[in-house]
Amino acid sequence: MKKHNFFAGPSILSQYTIERTAEAIINFANTGLSLMEVSHRGKEFIAVSDEARNLVKELLEVPDTHDVIFLGGGASLQFCMVPYNLLNKKASYLDTGTWASKAIKEAKIFGEVEVVASSKDKNYSYIPKNYTIASDSEYFHITTNNTIFGTQMHHIPEVAIPLAADMSSDIFSRPVDVSKYDVIYAGAQKNLAPAGVTIVIIRKDALGKMDRKIPSMLDYKIHVDNESMYNTPPVVPIFAALQTLKWYKELGGIKVMQQKNEEKAAVLYDEIDRNKLFVGTAAAEDRSLMNICFVMKEEYAALEDEFASFASKAGIVGIKGHRSVGGFRASTYNALPIESVQALVETMQAFEKSH
Ligand SMILES: *Cc1c(COP(=O)(O)O)cnc(C)c1O
Repeated sequence: MKKHNFFAGPSILSQYTIERTAEAIINFANTGLSLMEVSHRGKEFIAVSDEARNLVKELLEVPDTHDVIFLGGGASLQFCMVPYNLLNKKASYLDTGTWASKAIKEAKIFGEVEVVASSKDKNYSYIPKNYTIASDSEYFHITTNNTIFGTQMHHIPEVAIPLAADMSSDIFSRPVDVSKYDVIYAGAQKNLAPAGVTIVIIRKDALGKMDRKIPSMLDYKIHVDNESMYNTPPVVPIFAALQTLKWYKELGGIKVMQQKNEEKAAVLYDEIDRNKLFVGTAAAEDRSLMNICFVMKEEYAALEDEFASFASKAGIVGIKGHRSVGGFRASTYNALPIESVQALVETMQAFEKSH
């Protein structure tokens, strides 16, 4: 049976990426060797790394003021690297969920952290608006998409200081004005590649200004100067990332991805709003186009397990909600085809008919 993969992360990758990566694991660039057993400094892998960096720049229209690097350690390491490299005295953070609050926790190790607003009062079901930011803050940190709670910032706030953003779960899903950011980071395993590589886009002139000493492996400048080869990079995830980037380009680029994502999300949200059994958990204007969270309506709460097994019989995989929200979460990342969303919608309709 065809599986419809709605996992939140690691999550669906295109067949294009999976097949090309599988081939390279057997025979990389006609070397007769596996991608996993050749030097990262060989000309074949350097070409992969260079092309991946250039495609990130091309697809996201990264200006020359910024560099792109590939790091290990996941997005979670960036919670510490961002303040290590950019926070001398004070930074401002927006608390929009579990990942944002983890970022805040790490930043407090390095300096004063102003939490300008939080949506914790309503279990992170909305994006706070109308806050003020201290003018002496060095950057304003946002989480553009809240993977767990299914909210997304549809308007990036106009602020007087540079932005820093965790875009782990919506990078490449829509265009972004990189010039507004000192740093953008994203773990690969939501919209790009298998876990193991993190993309960091960093403004060159934001670096080298710290009073503190920074350990080499945590110093963005070291990784920029060494073109992400200061130590052995995660070669397989970088290779896979390159395939996904090529696929995005062949499909027409990030604006096309955005269009498809808007279409997919509209189909599913329309059904959630129509179906008598279900209700969405996120504030309507802040609904994520990547992680769509819904629960059984109160009067049908007892049907939750039954729907879960009904859906799984239809090949729907990975829709169990995160424990802090409950219910269901359908992740509709770039690689998820609209046919899978339609299959989920049909399953919800069939379940409604039988009750
Ligand atoms: C998944 C996720 C993370 C954590 O990523 P790791 O690579 O596991 O450290 C951080 N932020 C957001 C928004 C995420 O979705």
